[in-house]
Amino acid sequence: MKIITAKEFKQEVLNGGKVAVDFYSSDCPPCEALAPKFENLSELYGDEIKFLKIFRQDNRELAESLDVNGSPTVIFYDNGELVGDKLSGGIKRSDLIRNLDALIPAEKATEIKSKIKPTISEYDTLILGGGPGGLTAGLYLCQARVNAVLVDTMLPGGQMSSTHKISNYPGFIEPQPGFMLAHYMSEQTKICGAKYKVAVDVTKVDLKNKTIIIDEFETIKAKKVILATGASPRYLNVPGEKELKGNGISYCATCDAKYFHDKEVIVIGGGNTAIEEADFISKFASKITIIHQFDKLQANKEAQEKAFANPKINFVFETEPRGFEKNGNRVKVATENLKTGDKTTFEADGAFVFVGMKPNTDLFANDIETDEWGYVKTNEDMLTNVDGVYCVGDLRSKKYRQITTAVSDGTIAAISVTKELDS
Ligand SMILES: Cc1cc2nc3c(=O)[nH]c(=O)nc-3n(C[C@H](O)[C@H](O)[C@H](O)COP(=O)(O)OP(=O)(O)OC[C@H]3O[C@@H](n4cnc5c(N)ncnc54)[C@H](O)[C@@H]3O)c2cc1C
Repeated sequence: MKIITAKEFKQEVLNGGKVAVDFYSSDCPPCEALAPKFENLSELYGDEIKFLKIFRQDNRELAESLDVNGSPTVIFYDNGELVGDKLSGGIKRSDLIRNLDALIPAEKATEIKSKIKPTISEYDTLILGGGPGGLTAGLYLCQARVNAVLVDTMLPGGQMSSTHKISNYPGFIEPQPGFMLAHYMSEQTKICGAKYKVAVDVTKVDLKNKTIIIDEFETIKAKKVILATGASPRYLNVPGEKELKGNGISYCATCDAKYFHDKEVIVIGGGNTAIEEADFISKFASKITIIHQFDKLQANKEAQEKAFANPKINFVFETEPRGFEKNGNRVKVATENLKTGDKTTFEADGAFVFVGMKPNTDLFANDIETDEWGYVKTNEDMLTNVDGVYCVGDLRSKKYRQITTAVSDGTIAAISVTKELDS
């Protein structure tokens, strides 16, 4: 692997051969997460593919000319031609491998993969999930000198990272952008010394043996496990939803409302999130149609009153979506009235779906006791029914899911774990 500058780009990249180029920056947590993966893959694929790094801040003109606007960004070249995906943000090893494999013959790719040596590492505590719950547990464990590793399939921060402004987290006078609060929490835990393995694929979780496998080759064993994988938006599971996800259908107003300035939007749902997010979207959109399955909203009274008083918001009750379709740049939502059976199609520039959350238990749902909605049951020390396995945050069966409650759970679990390990 070699570090080059813009001056060497033509000779090293454009003059031929197969090349992977990483544009990195300093003070960049996702770049730090990528660096060991890039280096490890350069050792594996190094005979076939050239691995180069360019410091983006000092080579800005070149980066901009290649439409590389953030760090890290990895791009691939084959014989001077840009090929494959442009990877950025929390870059996974599997995404790098997919693009590297595409540069070389299939037999070569298989041969290289056969050289990957499985590794095993052992820790006192494994934290699965780096939202506020997992990060707080990591901070307390690290300060108690417990050897802990935090594993996340994305970059740390959890749901905070995609929340527009957070005004109810104590200690900040002004509302904080969610990604900044995520950054502060993540850096505080990392600077303390907790080990991070982030933007990884978690391929297996064995709670009984407190073992997980990441990126298919790395086994992590621990004496204690803290589950902190949080929750994700629920899908409607109707035709067209999967295809239009991120291309007409959004699940995050904070992320996408800004694209609907003066445009028409459909919101599906009638609970707190749907109504509060519709209010936020109305700062941008010209018209919002809320489609809700019941005959009244489920949101709290204050949110309802605000929505009913908002001239941009219209309501369609007792109606469920049956499918999504694209009509040019617009989205068509086929619906059915649950009372009359009438079928109506609504059209808008985009649709937002807010029909609740689901706990992220896919890899261990059958191995742990949950409530009827699939959230993990714990005692007041955050201990689950599985010996040595704790659970914190939104994943836990509880009444109120907030950053403060996740942080509180993380604190309790970490103190309980520390006491257990000491005894
Ligand atoms: C739009 C929106 C706005 C909100 N606004 C507020 C607010 O203003 N104030 C407030 O207090 N709360 C707010 N919340 C709720 C708050 O964000 C959550 O209660 C809190 O983030 C829960 O923290 P957590 O650590 O339990 O999980 P999450 O924040 O859900 O984090 C879970 C982490 O686990 C990772 N993960 C998932 N699966 C795996 C796996 N298999 N292996 C490894 N890692 C995995 C995820 O990538 C993620 O990083 C909001 C939520 C949303 C969606």
